[in-house]
Amino acid sequence: SDVYLNGEMLPLEKAQISVLDRGFLFGDGVYEVIPVFHGHPLRLEKHMERLNASLAAIQLPVEITITEWRSIFDQLLSRNPGQHQALYLQISRGSYASRQHGFPTETRPTVFVMTMPLAPRINDSLDDVKGGTAITAPDQRWQRCDIKSTSLLSNVMHHQLALNSGATEAILVDAEGRVTEGSSSNVFIVRDGTIITPPRSHKILSGITRALVLELVVNDGTYPCEERDVSVNELTTADEIWITSSSKEILPIIELNGIPVGKGKPGGVWRHVAGLYQTYKAG
Ligand code: PLP
Repeated sequence: SDVYLNGEMLPLEKAQISVLDRGFLFGDGVYEVIPVFHGHPLRLEKHMERLNASLAAIQLPVEITITEWRSIFDQLLSRNPGQHQALYLQISRGSYASRQHGFPTETRPTVFVMTMPLAPRINDSLDDVKGGTAITAPDQRWQRCDIKSTSLLSNVMHHQLALNSGATEAILVDAEGRVTEGSSSNVFIVRDGTIITPPRSHKILSGITRALVLELVVNDGTYPCEERDVSVNELTTADEIWITSSSKEILPIIELNGIPVGKGKPGGVWRHVAGLYQTYKAG
């Protein structure tokens, strides 16, 4: 497949960067994953706004306009056609003559974009969605999880902990016993017909899917929803648990720490909201 690297379109095998790249040496960079359904990027503007917020937070100036980004994405999508895929975009602070922690005086960021396969989870028949399983784990990450940073070692280790116990995702809990998010997803719970998700803060990534779900639920008006702290006790006794992300969409969690969630199958509120999401995605 063809990828974009620093102004050029080239085959993946030909795309190379220096071993002195700060993305490699320090994880000094940020990224985005933008889902593309039926050839159309979903919520592109929101992803680009978040990318710019991440770049600003790490003080990495990048002179690429939204029009230029769109042209890069269009070219990549026409070179790599597919019904459903994702655009993966990564910007590191670039490579310099030697390894030094301090920012270089002159910045030459490394800019990389590729397409990745994406299997939509929410298709025509919601009956086919089996749901996933999760474990809880202490959140061991840093205090700026709102930055979509490529420094993902804690996330990777949390996720592997889940896989090692046969689960789909690790739901993270902070030192005060509050749910933050998943290792690569946001978390929603349903209690007595109310949809609840932890508030935006430095402790979580402000998920584009999370924001879309909240928007759909509020506009629809069938279920009340709240952005507020969720205790681990509220999580373990919830009627429904969902995790959301650009690639997982809205995935119902049917078992937590080996114990069934609610009736142990995707819940009724999930079904309703997944339907709203499905309609939005198709439109
Ligand atoms: N939280 C973390 C830590 C993530 O890595 C992700 C995305 O993969 C999300 C939340 C969900 O964000 P989005 O819905 O924008 O994909």
